[in-house]
Amino acid sequence: YGPAPEDASAVRGWLAARDGWGQFIDGAFTAHDPARAIAVENPATGEVIAAVTAADAAELDRAVAAATRALPGWQALGPTGRARFLYALARAVQKRERFLSVLETIDNGKPIRESRDIDIPLVARHFYHHAGWAAALPAMFPGMEPVGVCAQVIPWNFPLLMLAWKVAPALAAGNTVVLKPAEQTPLTALAFAEICAEIGLPAGVLNIVTGAGETGAALVSHPGIAKVAFTGSTEVGRAIRRATAGQGKSLTLELGGKSPFIVFASADLDAAVEGVVDGIWFNGGQVCCAGSRLLVQEPLAERFQARLAARLAGLRVGDPLDKSTDIGAIVSAEQLSRINGLLNIGRAEGAVIHQSGPVPEGGHFCAPGFVTGAATASTLQTVEIFGPIATLTTFRTPDEAVELANNTAYGLAASIWAQDIDTAMDAAAKVKAGVVWINGTNLFDAAAPFGGMRESGFGREGGAEGMLAYLRRPGADDVADDGAE
Ligand code: NAD
Repeated sequence: YGPAPEDASAVRGWLAARDGWGQFIDGAFTAHDPARAIAVENPATGEVIAAVTAADAAELDRAVAAATRALPGWQALGPTGRARFLYALARAVQKRERFLSVLETIDNGKPIRESRDIDIPLVARHFYHHAGWAAALPAMFPGMEPVGVCAQVIPWNFPLLMLAWKVAPALAAGNTVVLKPAEQTPLTALAFAEICAEIGLPAGVLNIVTGAGETGAALVSHPGIAKVAFTGSTEVGRAIRRATAGQGKSLTLELGGKSPFIVFASADLDAAVEGVVDGIWFNGGQVCCAGSRLLVQEPLAERFQARLAARLAGLRVGDPLDKSTDIGAIVSAEQLSRINGLLNIGRAEGAVIHQSGPVPEGGHFCAPGFVTGAATASTLQTVEIFGPIATLTTFRTPDEAVELANNTAYGLAASIWAQDIDTAMDAAAKVKAGVVWINGTNLFDAAAPFGGMRESGFGREGGAEGMLAYLRRPGADDVADDGAE
C-alpha cells in the first residue's frame, strides 16, 4: 500500500445513483419508502450516505413467502446445481473485491487494509468452501435434509462477512433465506443482493430485508420461519430465545464475549504484543471474540506493559480509507458514547486508562488503549466494552491465570501465549471457551467451527458442525432448540 487514500469514486457513484433502497424480495428490489427511511451514515465523517426502508409486516410476509416458494426448486437443483451458484457467488465477490472493500469501509468505518485484506477475501473463501460442502453433502451426511426457510439476523461489526457465515452454509444445505443486516451497516448486503441477481441466483432463494430491532423481532417470530440464526448482543439473543420459545424453530446464537488473552512468562514478547494489536485493536475492538482481558504473568508484566505502551503510541487513528490507518472510526455515535461511558465508570471505580493521543474530529473516533488497576469484579473487567480498550491484569501461577480467565459470564474465545507448550496446552484444556488459540489470535477458517458457550451463545458456524446446524433428519424435530431450558 502507498500512503494515498483508496479511490472511492466507484462507490460514491453507486451510492449517488439511488435515492433510497427498498427490500430485496423474490429476486428484485421493492420501492424505497421515504416515510420509513433509516439514514445510513459514514462513521468517519458523519455524512449520510444512503437511506434504506424499515421493512413492514407486509414486506416481511412477502419475503418469507418468496423464500417458501423458492424452497422446492432450490432443493431440486441438487448438490452440484447448488454448488455452481455458490462458486459463482464466490467468484463474483472476488471480482468486486475492491468495490466491496471500499463500500464496507465507508459504511462501517473499519480501515481499508482490514476490509481489503481480511473481510472481503474471507467472504469469497467462505462461499468457495461451502460450494464444496454443497457438492459433498450427500456423501458426508446421507439422508439428511434442509431445515427450511431460515431467518438470519446479523450485527454491524463484520457486515458482509457475517452475511457470508450465515448465507453460505444455509444455501449449501438447500435452505432458503430471509436475512436482515444491521441498520447501521446494510450497504454491502444490498450490494450482495445485486450480485445475486446478476449471477442469476433463483428468485427467492436469498431475500434481504432492512430495518432495526423491531424488524428483526418480527422476522424471527414469523410463523413461516423454520430456523433462526442470530449474531449480536447477548441481550438481544436472550430476547430472541424468549420470543421464539415454543415455536418449534431451531435456533443458533452467536453472542458477546470478554475473551482472555493470557501471556505466560515464557511467551515471545514481541509476538505477544503484536498479538494484542490483532486481539483488541483490530476493527477498533468491535469484535465479539476480541482479546479484551490481557492476563500477564508477573515476571514479564513490566516489560510487557512498557512494550505495549510503545506499540500503542505508534498506532495511526484516522481516515479509514487511508491505507496507512491502523484504527478507523467506531461504527456509530451511540457505540462511541457507550464506550466512553464505560471508560468513565471505570475511572470512577479507580481504573487507570492509558490511551493514545488525540483523535481526529468530525467522525466517531476513539483513542485505543489499555486499562490497569481495574479490580476483578469491576465494570471494565466484566462488561463487554466492544471498543479498542483491553484491561491488563497480572497473575502469578497458571492456576491463577485459568481462574481469572474463567471469571466471566461469557465463553467465546481465548488466546494463550507461551513458548513452553506444555503450560499452554494445559491452560487451553481448562479455559472455558468455544475456541482457544495458542500463540495466535482472531484466526478464522471456513473449515473450523466457531461459536461460544455460556452467555456467548450456542451452536457453531463453519466446518461440519456449521453445516449440521442447517440440516435435519427427516421426521425428527429433536434437533430443534425451541427455547426450552
Ligand atoms: P444487537 O444485538 O443490538 O444487534 C444485532 C442485530 O440484531 C441487528 O441486526 C439488530 O437490528 C437486530 N436486533 C435488535 N433487536 C432485535 C430483536 N429484539 N429481535 C431480533 N433482532 C434484533 O448487537 P450489535 O450492537 O449490532 O452488535 C454488537 C454485539 O454483537 C456485541 O455484543 C458482540 O459481541 C456481538 N457479536 C457476536 C458475534 C459472535 O459471533 N458471537 C459476532 C459479532 C458480534
